[in-house]
Amino acid sequence: MTTSADKTLSLLIKENAYEHGFDLCGIVLSKSFKEHEPIIRNWCSSGMNGDMDYLGQYIEKRINPGLLIPGAKSVIVTGLNYYTEKKQGGNGIPVISRYAYGINYHNVIKGKLNKILDYIKSINPEVVGKSFVDSAPIIEKAWAREAGLGWPGRHSILINNKIGSFFFLGVIVLNIDLDCDKPYTEDHCGTCTLCIDSCPTGAINENRTIDVRKCIAYLTIENKGPVPEELARKMEGRVFGCDKCQEVCPWNKIAKPHKNPEFELPEEIKQMTAEEWHNLTREQFNRLFKRSAIERRTYERFMQNVTIVTKFSS
Ligand code: SF4
Ligand code: SF4
Repeated sequence: MTTSADKTLSLLIKENAYEHGFDLCGIVLSKSFKEHEPIIRNWCSSGMNGDMDYLGQYIEKRINPGLLIPGAKSVIVTGLNYYTEKKQGGNGIPVISRYAYGINYHNVIKGKLNKILDYIKSINPEVVGKSFVDSAPIIEKAWAREAGLGWPGRHSILINNKIGSFFFLGVIVLNIDLDCDKPYTEDHCGTCTLCIDSCPTGAINENRTIDVRKCIAYLTIENKGPVPEELARKMEGRVFGCDKCQEVCPWNKIAKPHKNPEFELPEEIKQMTAEEWHNLTREQFNRLFKRSAIERRTYERFMQNVTIVTKFSS
């Protein structure tokens, strides 16, 4: 049972999260997500995780934060909007997913989450906690739904009924009790199948999972080898990530532009011609993308994407 002190602290934490620019913040009691275990195991054993073997490992930790933070009692989940109407691309120019326009979101969000953690510790120095942004075996989407942030769409991405789906998730696990939010139990996809019908490579499964072996986001970011030519033909010029299933989703008609300068596409990149992309040198790549999520693809693999994908894009 939560006390009035827990309620006050929960409100202060949310206030602090909004002060740090987060658009969404919910709190949920830490627990084990046993029901997710067979889903993850089946998905991995059918090979739909591609080369991402790590997703099939540490499943016990992935479903139970108590194994990551001993004594875990509460989980804070945040959402940070990255939607922008400004788009690059066109005329054979390689297309980059919006999420990778600016500074690597892992670093931006981790910095903000750690500030919240410092704030909580300034109120209660006994608190032990840890923040996560895609950096540990945590099933963020399941936590986000439990914390009331939204529902997973047919494309498997979380949708919030006030800001759409273009937002990053962040998680803080704490060893203290907090006043919790209600889970989001509704599903507003209805009879819509726009994301499934629009996916260029048919990567969306009926059960709201993705076959990453066909997903452009995986093929251009995580995939260790070159993009297979038969899929490159369908990728419509996308060389790093893919926003197609989110762009067609009616719930993103309500998305508003973000207010985070860190997530803006630098003007120098926006102005690049198709020729400049194709002639990009390693030095230019390192300079332009040194703080971006694109940097982890490495120069060689990124240029492989540019060469094969744009060959079929015009
Ligand atoms: S990100 Fe692109 S390729 Fe992947 S499921 Fe969505 S539309 Fe399909
Ligand atoms: S496009 Fe339609 S089915 Fe897909 S996530 Fe959006 S509302 Fe749901």
